[in-house]
Amino acid sequence: MVKTIEELLQTVASYDPTADLSRIRHAYDFAAKAHSQQKRASGEPYIVHPLTAASTLAEMRLPTVMIIAGLLHDVPEDTPITLDEIKNEFGEEVAKLVSGVTKLGKIKYRGVERYIENLRKMFLAIAEDVRVIIIRFADRLHNLETLDSIPPKKQYRVALESLEIYAPIANRLGMGEMKGRLEDAAFRYVYPKEYQWTVEVAQKAVHQQDVYIEKIIQLTRQEIENAGLPIEDIHGRKKHLYSLYRKLIKNERNIARVYDIIALRVIVPSVADCYAALGVIHGKWTPLKGRIKDYIAQPKPNGYRSLHTTVFCEDGEIVEFQIRTMEMHEADEFGIASHWAYDERKNRAHRGPTTPIGWMQQLADIQQEVADKKQFLKSLEEIKIDLFKDRIFVFTPKGDVIDLPEDSTPVDFAYAIHTDIGNTCTGVKINDELSQLDRPLKSGDIVEVFTDKNRKGPNPDWIESAKTRHAKSKIRQFARTNLASWIKGIQGKFIKR
Ligand code: MN
Repeated sequence: MVKTIEELLQTVASYDPTADLSRIRHAYDFAAKAHSQQKRASGEPYIVHPLTAASTLAEMRLPTVMIIAGLLHDVPEDTPITLDEIKNEFGEEVAKLVSGVTKLGKIKYRGVERYIENLRKMFLAIAEDVRVIIIRFADRLHNLETLDSIPPKKQYRVALESLEIYAPIANRLGMGEMKGRLEDAAFRYVYPKEYQWTVEVAQKAVHQQDVYIEKIIQLTRQEIENAGLPIEDIHGRKKHLYSLYRKLIKNERNIARVYDIIALRVIVPSVADCYAALGVIHGKWTPLKGRIKDYIAQPKPNGYRSLHTTVFCEDGEIVEFQIRTMEMHEADEFGIASHWAYDERKNRAHRGPTTPIGWMQQLADIQQEVADKKQFLKSLEEIKIDLFKDRIFVFTPKGDVIDLPEDSTPVDFAYAIHTDIGNTCTGVKINDELSQLDRPLKSGDIVEVFTDKNRKGPNPDWIESAKTRHAKSKIRQFARTNLASWIKGIQGKFIKR
């Protein structure tokens, strides 16, 4: 784990020799100065947090612009420095990423079931640029790992949100490693007893298997090499705790029925080698019926590819093998992020050089290319198109989410919160700036309406600009009751007379 800016620079230089390290150092100095008056809840200097988030991004071998945005991600939210200043100092692209991360930070999940899916979709819609989500994950991961120093109620909220919103999105983006890390970090705060139980079950099982796994790795390597096949790597992987827990629950808490607590990963150069290696393994050990899965021919919906098989191994033990190429392996670890990751073997980013100017175009090309190729991105797009073509999501200043039709106005927003707010609203701030009550809102806007208790009622002209039936009908209703009471008043006068 990276502890200093020097180590971060070293990490970046190790995968990207062309990276502009002085820009990264400048971003670090800038952020450190901006946060100099702040401390984390743990008592550490604040800069430790953005530095750690940036390091997580560097571990994924992501480009400089994302590392810089990672270092600056809390500056506009938590310090007097504005987004404009970041833009002047580091350019439009960095500023856009930082602003996206800040916006995502406004989303708060308060444990209401029916909002879960909406929130996930909104998260995706608001991010627009997937790189923003990746930075936000790195941010969240460090927050989860330092959750001990904040109050229990907030711990629970942040952890639950990570489990219900962040991890499923990481999964949808194919970021298996990130999903596992988020879940494992959140698990013990959301289900402390179950966490403890799972740790114990796993420790027992894995402890017994350590030596055994070493032996199987040796044997497998021998078999494959004897068959004249090339191997890039064989290693054991321990199942992430939360995912083990879920599997145990599905299998009546019986560890004997979980076959992949440890799986052996065999990494070979080509797809053909994958099938050949599968053949070698099946030649040596008998496969269990119904447990051979060809996710190469039929990838999982999130793009995951590998061959899986479970065999009766040495001494009658049951062992799972996952066979894949290096490209599939990295895609599984980093998911969508792997498309931006620097490729050591080719000594350049996956798709061509990362010159600063070429990068923007390249990014657009990659996004286009990925969108064409990858089912998960396609489905992501479909989700966006289906559900967001005519919906927007805006925030209250407290971070609650209001879901509205496209082109809704602050008046729609006010009525969506409460009829009284709508009836008495007099003005609005959108993203901290005073604005008109009929200005159409955009996804991600933070909307604060002002009310005046003495206001007699809504302006009938609002019916024209309002988009929701709800707001229109409330305005009309008010006009009607007003008319009715006016008539009543007049009648009263007549009666009195
Ligand atoms: Mn942060």
